[in-house]
Amino acid sequence: MMEKTLVIIKPSAVQRGLIGEVIHRFERKGLQLCGMKMMQLSEEILLEHYAHLAQRPFFKRIKDSMMVTPVVVCCIKGFEAVRIVHDMAGKTNGREAAMGTIRGDFSMSVQENIIHTSDSVKNAKQELDRFFKEEEIFEFEPCGLHFLYANDEI
Ligand code: ADP
Repeated sequence: MMEKTLVIIKPSAVQRGLIGEVIHRFERKGLQLCGMKMMQLSEEILLEHYAHLAQRPFFKRIKDSMMVTPVVVCCIKGFEAVRIVHDMAGKTNGREAAMGTIRGDFSMSVQENIIHTSDSVKNAKQELDRFFKEEEIFEFEPCGLHFLYANDEI
């Protein structure tokens, strides 16, 4: 299935000059960037986005760390893109994430772990709606589509 998923390039990557590096990885894999913007996250949006962590003792710290600088939010499209992008990020803890994953290669931390990626198709839809307006996501056919996929995959 062709899917769209959300990536947030977190302040830990913005501050370290890794925005391009992260986007480069997705592009080289053959995923399509179909929405991208820099934005300052608010308390309100983070309360929704990290609602599943609201009772954890480190919740305030995570929220604050996501507001230190603007972030870059991306909509990424591809065949089974939700799982692929999530796997490319690696485990939450950068010290445990496999080498070759984004967190494994660029992070030494649980909290300062470079990117957020949606973890299911359902959450991807919800999260894209949370961070993007409809008109900020673009539909266009990449010219190399038939060299990225066989006909039965698209
Ligand atoms: P993931 O981002 O891998 O889906 P979670 O949804 O569990 O992980 O957590 C969201 C984010 O909160 C993590 O990416 C990380 O930045 C931060 N976080 C999670 N657990 C901890 C922790 N124990 N201590 C500090 N920060 C944490």
